[in-house]
Amino acid sequence: MMFIPPNYKNKKVALLGLGLTGGSLIKHLKSFGIDPICWDDDETKRKVFRGKGLVIEDLNAPNIWKDLDLLIISPGIPFLYPEPHPAVILARENAVHITTDIELFFDFLHEKRIYEGASRPTVICVTGSNGKSTTTALIHHILSGMSKDTEMGGNIGRPVMNLNLENPKSIKVIELSSYQIEIAGRLEPDVAIFLNLSNDHLLRHGGLGGYFLTKSKLFHQGNPKFSIVGVDEHEGKCLAASLEARKDSISSVIQISIMGPILGSEWSVFMSNEFIVEVKSGEEIFKSVLREVLQIPGDHNKQNACAAYAACRALGFSPKHSFEQIRGFQGLPHRTEIVRKLDGVIFINDSKATNVESVRKSLKTFNNIRWIAGGLKKDGDIINFTAYFSRIKKAYLIGSAATEFASSLKGLEYEICGELEMAVSSAYEEADEGDTVLLAPGCASFDQFINFEERGNKFSKLVENLKRKSL
Ligand code: ADP
Repeated sequence: MMFIPPNYKNKKVALLGLGLTGGSLIKHLKSFGIDPICWDDDETKRKVFRGKGLVIEDLNAPNIWKDLDLLIISPGIPFLYPEPHPAVILARENAVHITTDIELFFDFLHEKRIYEGASRPTVICVTGSNGKSTTTALIHHILSGMSKDTEMGGNIGRPVMNLNLENPKSIKVIELSSYQIEIAGRLEPDVAIFLNLSNDHLLRHGGLGGYFLTKSKLFHQGNPKFSIVGVDEHEGKCLAASLEARKDSISSVIQISIMGPILGSEWSVFMSNEFIVEVKSGEEIFKSVLREVLQIPGDHNKQNACAAYAACRALGFSPKHSFEQIRGFQGLPHRTEIVRKLDGVIFINDSKATNVESVRKSLKTFNNIRWIAGGLKKDGDIINFTAYFSRIKKAYLIGSAATEFASSLKGLEYEICGELEMAVSSAYEEADEGDTVLLAPGCASFDQFINFEERGNKFSKLVENLKRKSL
């Protein structure tokens, strides 16, 4: 029988959001003897779950709340800004605790340890504006290469409650978005990673300050044994300094940077020219050429590699092993992914580059770029790519943001293409040998696609179907 955390026993639970996360929770709540009251504002989802015999009731109705103890929401449900969801407001008015699957995951592990004396799996949590999925997958790759029992989950696509929670030897690598951190009341990572911070999700967090504060919560509330902090922006520097200054903490801080040695840090992993270097208490512990093992392109992936290496060092694995096992990591689809080389033209799918900073990283990685950009503009984004114009031959603009994008590209040749098909065929037609056709939209995809995966897959398919010009 599955362990039931005592703080969930006999609770009346409401579940808001019937997507991947909501769906994953039902099985567990049922095994705890809980029949949740479910709701989703989307009628189609309600229909599917009603068909499965679940109790569906409108959580936007005030009279339902007086008997409830707990509201579990999906991370996408607005918690505070720009406006809390009406059910969130009602829950607060009725003093009903609001939580999410990440809290349930940590509650489960915490309570099981207390009540069964069971040891707990080691948990590594990865957050940051960009590179979370890649770093999560890279840590998982390194640990698997060392034949460690490991699973990855969270925002990367496998809900945390679907991981095997009964095996204390398995190392869990969890990607956490700011939305998940914002809602979770219990966060207890053993190792926590903050990669970087740039403008994203500003409406949801009431601006950049709120966004940074949410990410910091993983460290200040979670109090991990090891905090790995990217210090290439002011926010990271500030976070690392505040963690090192904490008097109540037993946490070690490992600072990471791709901009060279980090002055004054006790423990650091950084890039110095082509070398990844680890320094601890003033002593150089390890130094090796990163490109010997890291196959995926771009400085941003060097940052991810520094973080993944540091995580393995935090777990006590040897420098050589942690480094060597990076080898063979192919990267994830839709992240600066090489799709094809045709007539000397390279095609790159970076459909996941949905914010300005990830596009900058992509533009910095390639030369002679025929750049496919646009989609649905994210609020608060300031589109400014002037620093990279010398690398771009021409921009091919798609989606609803095309005209707005165009107005910020003064001095650069561009074409409004509308659809992705048109952009791919124009870019290829005009490309010379040595050019890179790069899909790095800098925008969300929802105006023309279901998600970034669909956009990336379509790009790859269009590219696969291109015929050689020389034939
Ligand atoms: P996330 O899970 O944080 O969205 P991904 O690994 O899925 O991160 O990558 C998202 C986008 O950001 C891709 O375009 C990728 O090339 C780019 N990227 C990956 N790592 C970094 C990094 N460390 N800094 C900036 N951009 C990055």
